[in-house]
Amino acid sequence: MKVLVINAGSSSLKYQMIETDTEEVLAKGLCERIGLDGSKLTHTPENKPQYVEEKDMPTHKTAVKMVLDALVHPEHGVISDTGEISAVGHRVLHGGQYYSDSVIVNDDVKKVIKDCFPLGPLHNPANLIGIEACEDAMPGTPQVAVFDTAFGQSMSPKAYMYAIPYKFYEKYSIRKYGFHGTSHKFVSGRTIKFAELDKNDCKVIVCHLGNGASISASIGGKCVDTSMGLTPLEGLIMGTRSGDVDAAVVQFIADNENLTVDEVLNILNKESGVLGISGVSSDFRDLSAAAADGNERAQIALDAFIYRVAKYIGSYVAAMNGVDAITFTGGIGENDCATRGKICEYLGYLGIKIDEESNKLRGKEMYISTPDSKVKVLVIPTNEELAIARETLELVK
Ligand code: ADP
Repeated sequence: MKVLVINAGSSSLKYQMIETDTEEVLAKGLCERIGLDGSKLTHTPENKPQYVEEKDMPTHKTAVKMVLDALVHPEHGVISDTGEISAVGHRVLHGGQYYSDSVIVNDDVKKVIKDCFPLGPLHNPANLIGIEACEDAMPGTPQVAVFDTAFGQSMSPKAYMYAIPYKFYEKYSIRKYGFHGTSHKFVSGRTIKFAELDKNDCKVIVCHLGNGASISASIGGKCVDTSMGLTPLEGLIMGTRSGDVDAAVVQFIADNENLTVDEVLNILNKESGVLGISGVSSDFRDLSAAAADGNERAQIALDAFIYRVAKYIGSYVAAMNGVDAITFTGGIGENDCATRGKICEYLGYLGIKIDEESNKLRGKEMYISTPDSKVKVLVIPTNEELAIARETLELVK
């Protein structure tokens, strides 16, 4: 069965065509600068040269049409007709409190995605446009919504409530939701299989460390806590996001810099994190190089990032009263051996022992702990597109 996976952002649209029988990626690509000058499609079919088309994409609808045209193109296409696409899986940022699982899209689902616009103002509108563009282009083909917030829906109120007046929860559904759910679910599931853990009771912590970074605690594959909140701003220090700060910082900067709350939040989302501390870059490779050259702020940024991850791991071990496995994933978690090693240096009290040689390897499923380590420590590469294709297949087969 062929499943098209779509991840629509405010001005971009990423896609993968996946053959679910073999889980092979037949083609993948990206539409950039939708609705802006200089839009282009980059289409990368398997075993064929990459194809780039620079053409106006005023709307996501045009983008979806160009993607489908590229997929069926006689030279760089990978299917002969869009009728070969059995279903489309869409990454949707926010499902509010309505969905704890993926669903086949109908009018009710579209209404929920719309109702959640205030909770995901940049992504949910684009996600809905992506769904509607696919419905128009492929009438009758099932569309599936895979929510980034679904995994966090199993948290209990003690984990998701903010200690603010309850009326704000009742009126606006203000609470912790958590994001990267597709990745946390996929990676915790792979951890349970790889490490042969008890699938009903095992306690797993997943550190998804990329440009966006979050951490989750799950028992028996069900999320009990996660670091991102109402929005992806809460929690770990990230590439450009601050993660946890005292909320009074917003007022202080707004008052002293004569900025609006929106402007300060933009700073906390886009100009903060390791970029903000270092002033060098949001990219860990640049930061490590700068720190090695003696840049003190780059070193502080790296140390603060590592320290925050270690603190969250400690708090989740306490929350679950133990942990069986800790797994690293995401661009940094899969590749940055030094950062992984330094996080684990904080975890000796758990009886964790890291195998230095294994920890030098990158980007594959593996243990980085020694066989006698009290807690298993693993690397599991995430694959959100494959996870979306699997969820889609489950619903339509
Ligand atoms: P996104 O949240 O955008 O999906 P990624 O998961 O792709 O982010 O992670 C991007 C981060 O991973 C960057 O900070 C990058 O420096 C880091 N990274 C990628 N490869 C390596 C590597 N080989 N060594 C160290 N860091 C790496």
